[in-house]
Amino acid sequence: MPKYVYDFTEGNKDLKDLLGGKGANLAEMTNLDLPVPPGFTITTEACRHYLGHGGMPDGLDGEVAAHLAGLESRMRKRLGDSDDPLLVSVRSGAKFSMPGMMETVLNIGLNDDSVLGLAKQSGNERFAWDSYRRLIQMFGRTVLGIEGDLFERAIDELKGDREDTDLEAADLQRLVETYKGIVRAESGRDFPADPREQMDLAIRAVFDSWNAPRAVLYRRQERIPSGLGTAVNVVAMVFGNLGADSGTGVAFTRDPGSGQRGVYGDYLQNAQGEDVVAGIRNTVPLQELEKIDTAAYRELLEIMATLEGHYRDLCDIEFTVERGKLWMLQTRVGKRTAEAAFRIAIQLVDEGLIDMAEAVTRVTGGQLAQLMFPRFATGEDNRRLTTGMNASPGAAVGKAVFTSARAVELAARGEDTILVRRETNPDDLSGMIAAKGVLTSRGGKTSHAAVVARGMGKTCVCGAEELEVDVSARRFTTPDGTVVEEGDVVSIDGSNGAVYLGEVPVVASPVVEYFEGRRPGDELVAAVDRIMAHADSVRALAVRANADTPEDAARARRFGAQGIGLCRTEHMFLGDRRRLVEDLILATTPEERQAALDALEPLQTADFTGLFEAMDGLPVTIRLIDPPLHEFLPDLTDLSVRVALAGDRAGDAAADKDRRLLEAVKRLHEQNPMLGLRGVRLGLAIPGLFAMQVRAIATAAGRTGARHAEIMIPLVGAVQELEIVREEAQAILAGMGVDALIGTMIEVPRAAMTAGQIAEAAQFFSFGTNDLTQMTWGFSRDDVESAFFGKYLDLGIFGVSPFESIDRDGVGRLMRIAAEEGRRTRPGLKLGICGEHGGDPDSVHFCHEIGLDYVSCSPFRVPVARLEAGRAALVSSESDTR
Ligand code: PEP
Ligand code: MG
Repeated sequence: MPKYVYDFTEGNKDLKDLLGGKGANLAEMTNLDLPVPPGFTITTEACRHYLGHGGMPDGLDGEVAAHLAGLESRMRKRLGDSDDPLLVSVRSGAKFSMPGMMETVLNIGLNDDSVLGLAKQSGNERFAWDSYRRLIQMFGRTVLGIEGDLFERAIDELKGDREDTDLEAADLQRLVETYKGIVRAESGRDFPADPREQMDLAIRAVFDSWNAPRAVLYRRQERIPSGLGTAVNVVAMVFGNLGADSGTGVAFTRDPGSGQRGVYGDYLQNAQGEDVVAGIRNTVPLQELEKIDTAAYRELLEIMATLEGHYRDLCDIEFTVERGKLWMLQTRVGKRTAEAAFRIAIQLVDEGLIDMAEAVTRVTGGQLAQLMFPRFATGEDNRRLTTGMNASPGAAVGKAVFTSARAVELAARGEDTILVRRETNPDDLSGMIAAKGVLTSRGGKTSHAAVVARGMGKTCVCGAEELEVDVSARRFTTPDGTVVEEGDVVSIDGSNGAVYLGEVPVVASPVVEYFEGRRPGDELVAAVDRIMAHADSVRALAVRANADTPEDAARARRFGAQGIGLCRTEHMFLGDRRRLVEDLILATTPEERQAALDALEPLQTADFTGLFEAMDGLPVTIRLIDPPLHEFLPDLTDLSVRVALAGDRAGDAAADKDRRLLEAVKRLHEQNPMLGLRGVRLGLAIPGLFAMQVRAIATAAGRTGARHAEIMIPLVGAVQELEIVREEAQAILAGMGVDALIGTMIEVPRAAMTAGQIAEAAQFFSFGTNDLTQMTWGFSRDDVESAFFGKYLDLGIFGVSPFESIDRDGVGRLMRIAAEEGRRTRPGLKLGICGEHGGDPDSVHFCHEIGLDYVSCSPFRVPVARLEAGRAALVSSESDTR
């Protein structure tokens, strides 16, 4: 039978899975001979059993009784004894800290008899009755589920104008009776007088609180697995509310905001822990404890130094002073801001406490990303209009504009704009480039707006569904009726999805300045620099960027990209060139088609030349055109209107072309374009299209001497598709005397399942996890996130969108199979990823695990991917670095 209960002397800090963070650290402090009140921990395993079976596991009751007896003999008191009672607290404590999400009950063991014993032993009647009323209040609320307000109202009535410290023993004794009445009325039972029953019910309540709605929500946000369960700590009570020589406080060994060393914390005299949280009275800065109780203060500082040295990290601490005696109630490695995380890691290296490898594991890509985006200054009284999805981080301020043309026009005048659309399409590219930020009312995190904005490092809030966007009237309306017209200033926060009216002040990121090569030498930047250098020196994964223009490519290189993993060629068909694509679609003879392709080829050649030059010999993967051609045609409604207005005037060339375009739009319309004529299918259906692109690549490679051109075929599902395209491409390359790799994306499930065959014809695979996720789940990437992902997240179907982080069990499994079977056919097959997941920390770890050669992500994510690739090489995915 498993052991379900551990005394504090039996555990240690490495047993967090079993004892929870609090229990493991209480045990660790006990073993360090620090002053910890004695107690024991009931394991997470017992909790899992209880939640899974709806009852306590066999044997637990006996173990708890034995440990309680041990505690009683150590304390030389009996739980709830009427002469000199032992009191205990029952505290939750999961593996990962979930502050305030679960339950705690203090002062267990008090009843009508033992309260008198406590009064006698403490010589403080008021204290005894105050402790008793606190027990009934906490027990009533957390164990019996009684509305907390009922108790609050009763004490407020009693207090009148007085402070709670002004209440006297007789007042509190009366309050106990009132509280007992509330318990009887609300729960239909008397407050349990039996101390052991109190304890057992409190333990159950803590187990149950693992599934309280707020705990479930918190876990989802923090990506804490829902199956871990919580441990329960039963601890001998010490009292901070025994008078002016007692108190309770919290302390940090360093400033969790900035990383500065020093004494940080708060202290509250004559109080128990929950008073600090409830803010009943104001705390004083921890330094004041020096004056209040010098000996306790000195001892606390010594203990803080011991803990830092022992944990080799910032620790946060909860303590109580009981009549001048210091007690440690909790410690843990403390949460900190992104800036503090980098600074502290390097401080600890310089102090000789950790090495550089450990410093790299102490920070996360998410923290680095936070440091890279400009942010709104906090503490402002900002007027929030709504909250959408945080699609691409950053803080952007500008005049609302509703068309790309307007954004371009205002940008030319040097004005900042926010492009507001219901959703964006490839036509909006110029506006997105011109605007400071993008706001849409539809679409999820892989919608066009989101993907393109992230690629550009542009702030974007998408799917702000509450906003009624009326593009033709050039305004949007919020649910409360606020109307924002073109020209009104709005501020959008891509890190949390907030949309504000008016200008919110912005602070720039020194870390981006550093990556850009303009390097202010402050402590934070120096810390980032050293950590990045070490991550680069240990990582196995190369990091490339998804970039389509020489400017993006150049930025990606400055940010440390080692190549381009995806150049999407479709942007090269936009703008003025649309006319040429229209000619291609409208061609009725092979000659007309070839003429259209011949007109495109020099333009593509110039594009690729620019890219090869910017990458200066590094590998560049160019993907042949992917989207359906009809996406480049005008909008059906606009065109229909134009055709209708032109009537059937004969001989008008423009009107004639519009009529032919309208026919083409209708002919090429697809019900599900994402599953239609795109990718390799397009290359096979339109003779000469891929050949033109391959020739342009070969010419550009020949011109620039690029030796690492890689031609990538999208949407392949069968090796036969690839073979046909490859043969044609190889013939062109051979004819031009140019060497280039030919490979494919793996983004259709069938490609993953037949990877062994496909590898016969592919020199590399790049996982297109946007499409692979879409097609594996059958989720339309443009629709589902704003439509029902919120619900799916609420229901716990997944903890994070599979478009954001690789779904390891489904999509990830396909990737693993494809990687293994591909390499079985072709050892040394080059493997990469170029879907949005390539810049997601968890996904980077997964790519490391399955042995990919590189990840490719948007230029702004390159540093994040470099850091996470380094961390992946240093830590297992199971480590507790959250
Ligand atoms: C993908 O599908 O993951 C991919 C990179 O291609 P796109 O996003 O252009 O479809
Ligand atoms: Mg794709």
